[in-house]
Amino acid sequence: MDNYIYLAHEPESLKTAVIDPAISEPVLEALKKRGWQLTHILNTHHHMDHVGGNLQLKAETGCIIVGPAADEARIPGIDISLSEGESYDLGNARATIFDIPGHTRGHMAYWFEESDALFCGDTLFSMGCGRLFEGTPEQMWNSLKKLRALPDQTRIYCAHEYTEANGRFAKTIEPLNDALATRMAEVLALRQLGKSTVPSVMGVEKETNPFLRADQPELKAAVGNPDGDAVEIFAKIRQQKDAF
Ligand code: ZN
Ligand code: FE
Repeated sequence: MDNYIYLAHEPESLKTAVIDPAISEPVLEALKKRGWQLTHILNTHHHMDHVGGNLQLKAETGCIIVGPAADEARIPGIDISLSEGESYDLGNARATIFDIPGHTRGHMAYWFEESDALFCGDTLFSMGCGRLFEGTPEQMWNSLKKLRALPDQTRIYCAHEYTEANGRFAKTIEPLNDALATRMAEVLALRQLGKSTVPSVMGVEKETNPFLRADQPELKAAVGNPDGDAVEIFAKIRQQKDAF
């Protein structure tokens, strides 16, 4: 399994959340090691590799489960349903909620503005984006544009280590993109050492991730469609990636 499961700890209130627990055992171990008590599960979407540990963790800790209102029927054990425009406080740390459908019809992101941390599940990956299982290219493009509007220093805690494969694909789309070449060299070096390439940073993603660049003149030119519509271009590169 290549899932990342994150713990977020707010030191004043001692609230601790796990984001998208695929499984429970390593989460319980990590909590024990740090002496933290789990108070929340924050889910981005219903896929098993994101909610698989929900019920076990709730049974063991009594934690509160938070997830997307748009998909509450598919989030095991959900207690609190949220949607766009709402916020949720993990102790003194406030998360702004974004609805970002496309990968699934109910997919949510949590943005902790003060910590510059974005938990975006399977919507935005480093140099890539999620597959369109339940949404249209237009929905996904709009979701990605919402995330792209966040500050450049935003750290992107995505749910999978797909960066290297994504980068190989991105280079076929924009072989002359210098920022992409630089990032890819860094990624290869990290992977060689067995290190994580996540979190990535929004400012770098804006320069290197083809799925965030479908409306940029350089990318449009690179795909030979300088006057093309962003949604159309996005749809086409997403299709190409599916077959890559
Ligand atoms: Zn997923
Ligand atoms: Fe996933």
